[in-house]
Amino acid sequence: MQSFIYKGIPTRVVFGSGTSAGVGDEMDRLSVERALLLSTPQQRGDVERLASRLGGRAIAIYDKATMHTPVSITDEAMQYVEGAGIDVVVALGGGSTIGLAKAIALRTDLPQIVLPTTYAGSEMTPILGQTEHGLKTTISTRKVQPEVVIYDVDLTLSLPPGLSGTSGINAIAHAVEALYAQDRNPIISLIAEEAVRALAGALPRIAAAPDDREARSDALYGAWLCGVCLGSTGVALHHKLCHVLGGSFDLPHAETHTAILPHVVAYNARAAPDAIERLSRALGSDDPAHALWVLAGRVGASRALRDLGLAETDAAQAATMALENAYWNPRSLEAAAIRQLMRRAWAGEMPAGDHNLILEKDGQDAQD
Ligand code: NAD
Repeated sequence: MQSFIYKGIPTRVVFGSGTSAGVGDEMDRLSVERALLLSTPQQRGDVERLASRLGGRAIAIYDKATMHTPVSITDEAMQYVEGAGIDVVVALGGGSTIGLAKAIALRTDLPQIVLPTTYAGSEMTPILGQTEHGLKTTISTRKVQPEVVIYDVDLTLSLPPGLSGTSGINAIAHAVEALYAQDRNPIISLIAEEAVRALAGALPRIAAAPDDREARSDALYGAWLCGVCLGSTGVALHHKLCHVLGGSFDLPHAETHTAILPHVVAYNARAAPDAIERLSRALGSDDPAHALWVLAGRVGASRALRDLGLAETDAAQAATMALENAYWNPRSLEAAAIRQLMRRAWAGEMPAGDHNLILEKDGQDAQD
């Protein structure tokens, strides 16, 4: 018999092509008039185009959003909020820019209109990670959940092919862990399976033709669903390892998720048969760990943490750190096996599993 709790995400979602033209309408709906627009330096051009559409309602642009939301950057952005009568924050960008919008919302309770341009999924969550003095802390509060998310497929066309692939697999990781989360529920499991199917189908098409608008639309749709998963259920070993690698060893976010995910799926496979069944359907393979490893290769991602600049001793250290505090995972946290998982991810080897062991014995090359 099933037993679960389900809570919907309150965010209003607008999805399509050219939808960023609707920011003004969304401001009307929220009854706000004075927007602070946020971006990274790289996306200044896109945010300036948005500002020119908003005319006098775009009060200021702050373009220094940075990975992992440093508090010093938020403090600087707050100077644009205070005294300027800002009544809404509009963020155009990936998880870094959205993180800055959330950090401002945490301090001010201002509403957020968010236009995501990667597949990271932060826009659907009540989670904010911030860094100060080299320490990353995470909080979860409804205060930072964006009020409105506008997905505009057009804004994703410029996402470089490499980052498209790793960002998409970063999103898939949210769906994977939702499938075996302690607080999983039937709606989120349906969403997660559909999310993996959509993204796994779209990412190789984007790698082959980055301006394929249908593929971009499928990927963004999948990323939205993955964000819903992340915003609705807890995470487990995969996100813990990536948090340690990003927070303490400064590894890049999406690339790290991509290198780790196949190995965690292999580690958890026997303890999460329902998740594996759904992933098998979504990926069209009876070995989802291997299928994810192949997918990473097909989108041109590095599958070795050593290629991301991690020392082998740091991989072992990260495994130890990820074991320091107890947390939910479908398979118990076994130190030796997790160290082995990290070593394989560090070296870029195929995830452990019967299928892969047979291939290795036969001396065949990895197929991708
Ligand atoms: P990002 O936002 O750091 O973007 C990476 C780079 O790509 C930036 O230079 C950005 O300007 C550029 N870029 C983004 N979209 C582009 C586009 N369409 N065209 C051209 N360039 C583009 O990367 P990310 O992976 O989206 O976000 C990572 C950050 O988000 C991390 O700090 C991570 O912790 C956080 N995150 C938070 C949550 C959450 O729920 N709180 C969820 C996922 C990620």
